Amino acid sequence: MGIDQHGRTIDYLRISVTDRCNLRCLYCMPEEGVAWRPHDAMLSLEEIARLVAIAAKEGFSRIRLTGGEPLVRLGIVDLVRDLSQTPGIERVAMTTNGILLPRYADALRTAGLSRVNISLDTLDPAQFTHITRWGNIDDVYRGIDAALKTGFDPVKINAVVVRSLDQDLLAFARLSLDRPLHVRFIEYMPVGDPQGEDGLGWTRADTIPNEELIRSLDARAEAAGLGRLMPLHQAARPEGWGPAQYYQFKGAQGTVGFISALSRHFCSECNRLRMTAEGKLRPCLFSDQEFDVKDALRTGDDSEVRRVLAEALGAKPDEHHSQVGTERLMSQIGG
Ligand code: SAM
Ligand code: SF4
Repeated sequence: MGIDQHGRTIDYLRISVTDRCNLRCLYCMPEEGVAWRPHDAMLSLEEIARLVAIAAKEGFSRIRLTGGEPLVRLGIVDLVRDLSQTPGIERVAMTTNGILLPRYADALRTAGLSRVNISLDTLDPAQFTHITRWGNIDDVYRGIDAALKTGFDPVKINAVVVRSLDQDLLAFARLSLDRPLHVRFIEYMPVGDPQGEDGLGWTRADTIPNEELIRSLDARAEAAGLGRLMPLHQAARPEGWGPAQYYQFKGAQGTVGFISALSRHFCSECNRLRMTAEGKLRPCLFSDQEFDVKDALRTGDDSEVRRVLAEALGAKPDEHHSQVGTERLMSQIGG
């Protein structure tokens, strides 16, 4: 079992399988996409599978595949199959923009994917196209339908809330009423340098602290006759729901959650390592400290890989101390 120097059990690995994407969300990726890199600068699927097999022996039992957009990586279904059959791995989940789910949902489920989170930041078609630079919201709706129809449960919808976008959050919360959809509002994180060349342009003022968000959503829901958001206590939450505060409307099939990496530290509950598509292990989302596991994998020596994993684990800080802002963009880190 991997325990870090602050006594936390680290058993969750978030793997970015590509830094490419079929969308260009304003807060995540520049319009021109990511710079071209030679094929062997990225981990191959075989290398990812080998890393996971070694990590599983070190106590990692849960994997999340992310990106970029994980479904644009060729061979992703085979990777899911390999990982879900790896001894010691109990759960393989994915975070996706949903666009390719109608094509892949069935195959992913058959391959052993346990859960899927779909990112959607607005229900307004024009605003969706604006945020993603060219996306069509109907494609995401088809992805959500495909995930539910295939039997994924839970299906979570992740919405990044940005003050200057003025999204209709009540419309989102309503999604939880009639279908088993779990809407989670994610505090916008100023990742990447907002003043830098990529100029993603949003600053900390755009982050709405969760307390403010919950208060205003609750008031709007009551005014609209939906009643109050009722807190869901720890015991009522399905296992493995991560560091969110969960609420529910009376009689709703789904839930409404709030995730705040910034305003409400969940560092003490942190259970994860991240890995970029280039094979860099990141002990903390908000720190640019990285450990290269690609070279270790390419030595062919498992003990080298274990050494780098242990090094990354040992470098996990106790908390991020509000040192936010990173050199890498979210599309490179994987969220
Ligand atoms: N393409 C997939 C998707 O969009 O779900 C997976 C990768 S994306 C980087 C993972 C998550 O990070 C998404 O839910 C996205 O909204 C979120 N994200 C990206 N940039 C963010 C930011 N600056 N603050 C908060 N969340 C962010
Ligand atoms: Fe692509 Fe996901 Fe980033 Fe949007 S948030 S640009 S869908 S990687």
